[in-house]
Amino acid sequence: MYEKADQEKLEFIQNGLKEYSLHRNYDFGPKSRKNISNLSKYISHRIINEYDLIREILSQYKLQKVDKFVQEVFWRVYWKGWLEHRHEVWRDFINSIPSYSNEDYKNAINGKTGIECFDDWVNELKTENYLHNHSRMWFASIWIFTLNLPWELGARFFMKYLFDGDAASNTLSWRWVAGIQTQGKNYVARESNIRKFTNQRYMNIALNENALPLENHKIYSLNEVRQLHTKQKYKNIVLFESDLNVNGRQSFFENYENVYLLLLENTNRNLKLDDAVLNFKKTLQEAFKSEITNSKIINEDDIKNLNEGFDVLYPAIGENMDFLNREIKDINKLHFIGAKEDIFCWQYSKKGFFNFKKNIPQVINFLLHEDDLFN
Ligand SMILES: Cc1cc2nc3c(=O)[nH]c(=O)nc-3n(C[C@H](O)[C@H](O)[C@H](O)COP(=O)(O)OP(=O)(O)OC[C@H]3O[C@@H](n4cnc5c(N)ncnc54)[C@H](O)[C@@H]3O)c2cc1C
Repeated sequence: MYEKADQEKLEFIQNGLKEYSLHRNYDFGPKSRKNISNLSKYISHRIINEYDLIREILSQYKLQKVDKFVQEVFWRVYWKGWLEHRHEVWRDFINSIPSYSNEDYKNAINGKTGIECFDDWVNELKTENYLHNHSRMWFASIWIFTLNLPWELGARFFMKYLFDGDAASNTLSWRWVAGIQTQGKNYVARESNIRKFTNQRYMNIALNENALPLENHKIYSLNEVRQLHTKQKYKNIVLFESDLNVNGRQSFFENYENVYLLLLENTNRNLKLDDAVLNFKKTLQEAFKSEITNSKIINEDDIKNLNEGFDVLYPAIGENMDFLNREIKDINKLHFIGAKEDIFCWQYSKKGFFNFKKNIPQVINFLLHEDDLFN
C-alpha cells in the first residue's frame, strides 16, 4: 500500500501538479481525476505524510509554482489545529445528531431526490468512497439549503462512506458550508457554477440559490491544546489508523517492545462506518504491520486490559480520542507523542485560515529545517 501510494504521488507530482491551479475546480467525473491528486485517502491516514509531501514538492518546485496545491494541503493542517483548540465543537456535533427518518432524508441517502447531480454524487460516494472537493461543497449546500436537511446528518453520511473521512476537515467544512463556521457566511451552490465546473455534465438544476446562513450564535472559546511529547516514555506504544506513517520512523518504533495497532469497530464509534471503509482501514493497518516487525494488531478489550502505562501516538480530536477518554480510567497516565510539525503548525490555527496563510513562510521554513519527527 505504501508503494502504491508512492507511485500515485509521483505520478501526480510529475503530471498533474503543474496544471493543478488551473483545473483543480473542475469535476470531470469519477473516470477523469488527473486534474487533482486523489491522494486524500492516503494523506488522511498518513500513509503519505502531508509534511513530507510538501517537503518533496518544494525540493522540486519553487513555492510560487505550486502554492495553490501547498495551500490546499495546509487547509487540512489548519482544520486539524482549529479543532484541537475547540474540542467542544466536535462534542456538540456528536451530541446534536438528530434521529431522523423522514422521506426527504431517505430519498437523499438513497440518491432518489430527482436532482440528477446530487443523486449521482450519492452513488459515487457509496461506490468510489470519494467525491471531488467542489462536489462536496455543492453536495453539502444542496443537502442543507435545497433539501432542508440537518447538516449534522450530512456530515455523518460523508463520514460513513469517505475513505478519507476526517473529523476536522469534514465537520468544519460542513459547518463552513452551513454558515456557522464563518458565522453569517454560507456557501450557496449555483446552477451556473455546477454547469461550468462539471464541464456541462449537469444543467438546468433547480436549486435554492437565495438561502440564508444557518444560525448558531454559540461562541467557542479556545481550550488548551493537549500537551504532546516528542520522546518515548513507556516500553509500548498504541497507534490508531489516523497516523500510520513509517517514513523515517523505523528506528523510533524499533525502540519499543511492542507497537500496538488499534482500529475501533463500529460498536465503539458514534459515527458508524461502511464495511468498505473499515476494510480499507484494515488493509492500511496490515500494510503497516508488514513494515514494522514489532507491531501487533490488538482490539478494544486488549487496550483496556493493558495494566502498565503506555505511549500513544496522538490520534487528534475524533472518535479515537473519544474512545480513550471514555475507556481508559486514568487518561493522564498516558504519554501522548506528537509530531513536531503538528505542534508547530497548530499554534497558527487559533483564528481564521487567512491568519494561518500569513504564517505559511514561517511554517515552510520550519518544515525544511526539521525533518526529524520525534527526536
Ligand atoms: C463538505 C466537505 C467535507 C469534506 N470532508 C473531508 C474529509 O472528511 N477528509 C478530507 O481529507 N477532506 C475533506 N474535505 C476536503 C476536500 O474536499 C478533500 O480533501 C479533497 O477533495 C480530497 O481530494 P484530493 O486528494 O484529490 O485533493 P487535492 O485537491 O489534490 O488536494 C491535496 C490534499 O490537500 C488536502 N485538502 C485539499 N482541499 C482541502 C480542504 N478543502 N480541506 C482540507 N484538506 C484539503 C487533502 O489532504 C488533499 O488530499 C471536505 C470538503 C468539504 C467541502
